[in-house]
Amino acid sequence: VEATSRTGKRVILAKPRGYCAGVDRAVQTVEEALKLYGAPIYVRKQIVHNKHVVRTLEAQGAIFVEENEEVPEGATVVFSAHGVAPEVYEQAKARSLKAIDATCPLVTKVHQEAKRFAAEDYDILLIGHEGHEEVIGTSGEAPEHIQLVDGPEGADRVTVRDPNKVVWLSQTTLSVDETMETVARLKKRLPMLQSPPSDDICYATSNRQHVVKEIAPDCDVVIVVGSTNSSNSVRLVEVALDAGARAGHLVDFAHEIDDAWLEGATTVGLTSGASVPEELVQDVLAHLAARGFADVEEVVTANERLTFSLPQELKRDIKAAA
Ligand code: SF4
Repeated sequence: VEATSRTGKRVILAKPRGYCAGVDRAVQTVEEALKLYGAPIYVRKQIVHNKHVVRTLEAQGAIFVEENEEVPEGATVVFSAHGVAPEVYEQAKARSLKAIDATCPLVTKVHQEAKRFAAEDYDILLIGHEGHEEVIGTSGEAPEHIQLVDGPEGADRVTVRDPNKVVWLSQTTLSVDETMETVARLKKRLPMLQSPPSDDICYATSNRQHVVKEIAPDCDVVIVVGSTNSSNSVRLVEVALDAGARAGHLVDFAHEIDDAWLEGATTVGLTSGASVPEELVQDVLAHLAARGFADVEEVVTANERLTFSLPQELKRDIKAAA
């Protein structure tokens, strides 16, 4: 403490950070499936977008595949937290796979909205990042009715059948501010555009962004722990920079932190994406402490208590085996 008070170096640690309820449930789903059915358990796509989580589950006997056809007939497959298009369930059935669906219930909610508006013959503008698994899954619910709007510029390219019957939905892990910008731009062209019945950007995404906005103006550098394919983690770096952090970096592991980033810095902000286990943040804290940033202040802007129960199909088997 004496050393830190001499240097004035400190870390501002954001809370909420790290695991959300949907990620926690998805990871537990694979762990419980391994315990119950034994290895190997196949997982379609990365269960959550985090390198460390994927490696840890692999070491326990999970096999990650891209598509159902890589799974042997009759084997057990877990679908990732990001959700899948209906055809993926059909493929699993055709291969007699035992499918366990770890889609986050907040993603399922967006799928249901998409189905409902498509049934009412709306044009659906899905704001999201092209190629992201969640967007592919949601679009698959109603491909004829959904068009993707990737950021504010995408708003200008939209064409609809009836401007009075249009609704926007979104990916759950977008930047809240950028999404509102996209919606405002869409509304200029489509004044009758309807909004989703409830927020599609999930509580975890918006809470993590909110606290980063609070701390960023006081930070010389903000470090976000998360993988490069994790949408919500990447957004946290952007939010930090927009909110006034002088620099922002995304790292999977503490050893990726370049000492040059810390040169001349007094205050380092630290947070982690929704798919990141807390142990990785603790590793970063230890790494920073070893470089003089031992004084840690946690800034808390929300307390999250939400949890989701395991998928029904898994709960049923766990009960039957008890
Ligand atoms: Fe669910 Fe949000 Fe977590 Fe995605 S980030 S898994 S939508 S709670």
